[in-house]
Amino acid sequence: MAKKPVLEQWNATCSADLYGVNNWGSGYFGVSDSGDAVITPFAERGPAVSIPEVIKGLKERGMDLPVLLRIENILDSQISVLHDCFNHAMRDLEYQGEFRGVYPIKVNQQEQVVERITEYGEPHHHGLEVGSKPELIAALSYLHDREACIVCNGYKDREFVDLALYANKMGYNCILVLEMPSELALILERSRALGIRPRMGIRIKLAARAGGHWTESGGDLSIFGLSTAEVVDVVDELRKHDMLDCMHLLHFHLGSQIPNIRDIRNALREACRVYAGLVDEGAAMGYLDLGGGLAVDYDGSHTNFLSSRNYTLGEYCADVVETVMSILDERDIAHPHIITESGRATVAYYSVLLFEILDASRLEDRAIPIDLPEDCPEPTENLLEVYRSISLKNLQECYNDAIFYRDEIRQMFRMGTCSLRERSVAESLFWAIIKEIAARVDEVKRPTKELAGIQDSLASIYYANMSIFQSLPDSWAIDHLFPVMPVHRMDEQPTEKVVLADITCDCDGKLDRFIDERGVRRTLDVHDLRKGEPYYMGAFLVGAYQETLGDLHNLFGDTNVASIHINEDGSFDFVRELDGDSVADVLSYVEYDPKMVLERFRNVAERGIREGRITPQDRYAIMKAFEQGLRGSTYLNGLR
Ligand SMILES: *Cc1c(COP(=O)(O)O)cnc(C)c1O
Repeated sequence: MAKKPVLEQWNATCSADLYGVNNWGSGYFGVSDSGDAVITPFAERGPAVSIPEVIKGLKERGMDLPVLLRIENILDSQISVLHDCFNHAMRDLEYQGEFRGVYPIKVNQQEQVVERITEYGEPHHHGLEVGSKPELIAALSYLHDREACIVCNGYKDREFVDLALYANKMGYNCILVLEMPSELALILERSRALGIRPRMGIRIKLAARAGGHWTESGGDLSIFGLSTAEVVDVVDELRKHDMLDCMHLLHFHLGSQIPNIRDIRNALREACRVYAGLVDEGAAMGYLDLGGGLAVDYDGSHTNFLSSRNYTLGEYCADVVETVMSILDERDIAHPHIITESGRATVAYYSVLLFEILDASRLEDRAIPIDLPEDCPEPTENLLEVYRSISLKNLQECYNDAIFYRDEIRQMFRMGTCSLRERSVAESLFWAIIKEIAARVDEVKRPTKELAGIQDSLASIYYANMSIFQSLPDSWAIDHLFPVMPVHRMDEQPTEKVVLADITCDCDGKLDRFIDERGVRRTLDVHDLRKGEPYYMGAFLVGAYQETLGDLHNLFGDTNVASIHINEDGSFDFVRELDGDSVADVLSYVEYDPKMVLERFRNVAERGIREGRITPQDRYAIMKAFEQGLRGSTYLNGLR
């Protein structure tokens, strides 16, 4: 394809527009005049930290890409913003209860993350949501704020219940949420045995459902929560034991990433009616827990598209507070404390995956074979004819003909009537035609679907030193879209349209769907690769769900992780670093013993000496390389 002329006036602002940073970045990311992607943790007012500068700092410390970069200030800010927005809405509407956020540990369980959330959350009494014994144990050791809630969802056994009861005795506000009717008997029994009155909640199945990827969490068919009949049974049982004063909380969870605010409002209305019903029955109550679902606008389109949301945080908070008030005021019921279990919205922004491009594979600009050999097959001559006849008026016709003659040649090749070299001449001609057509498509007023897609079919492949399966698993599993862009050279006009392939040997290990304000793009605009110069890119908003869902496809392990803290003056500190998995680490995950691996290979090397293939000195060098490989990273290094 003839490259578009590079515009003189291209600048960093054009790149910011092209990649939509200001739409999806939530004020945390931008592009500097010099073309660097920057982090702006304090929004417009504060300093901008250049991501290439951060990469330079990492490399100086011996840390290679891929690196998962965590920006602590953003986590701090997201927690504050959530509380500020709710507090603001509550003040405005004269709501009588308080807001109590909790962070669901499953969204990113890494120690660094939970540790920071409890620290940054303390001034707001931000608590934790747990769904299993390991999560409860982590919560109990990291959350020291007695005003904050620990909401215990998930299925519970005796150990789980005992631990939660002991926690209450120690002063934690630890609430056991019934997920199944049978858990009540267990809680009552353990409470009697330990002599500790439980603090309980109840999770309900709503009839309301929401649109989105994870809608199964709501609706009658949801595997979690109690039906209305079961709720009534629980109430009767509690009354029988004179324990209605132990029932404090109503919980529901619609699913994650709910793009449409109407779905949230509908579900909340239904839940408020149940809440009122429980108050009528004499339950103590006091907390209404909306679960997660607060979405992230990954594509910046601000729509009810799956990767977006059609509401702002401010609108979400105001809607929630207003809805609760409108229903409970009608009934003169005291306003409950509102809990949300926002995980995605809390942590997504704070991590960026930084990676390097290793190489490109593109349709080469081959010389067009104008002088065909004497006895070349007829379809080849026809292809040359097509090539010569291309004009703006007959693009579609030429496209059809090119496909037709190329298929004829391929057919002849299969039949053995055309040689490898003859086929190669024809294929080169074919691609020359396609490129020529692609170069003119933009001038066509209403191109057909085929013509419109032709530029995508010419996309080059950029090979990225990372594993989609390890670092962006949702992109592979559920076609989730993350914003991806280069993090430098953005003052230059990108000239290439590419798809990204990772280094796993799997045809699914690719990114070929990219964010777009109006739908999905099939290719990403990037810069050409320069010899001997690295090309750095980032996948943004990857802080939620991606780390522990990642898998060891082809045994590519965890990437390095680095956390930075940005200071008011724009300087930044590397506060924590975590080495990614070594080859020995990932082998041990799949039950190899690295010592045995070494031992076995040593025996092979020794046999090599006995058989006269290698010298003892060779063995020394070989074993050194092998051991170094075991200790080293699973990703490629030093290629460009
Ligand atoms: C997963 C989950 C959440 C987190 O949802 P987000 O959409 O990430 O905020 C909250 N509550 C429960 C019960 C969950 O299962």
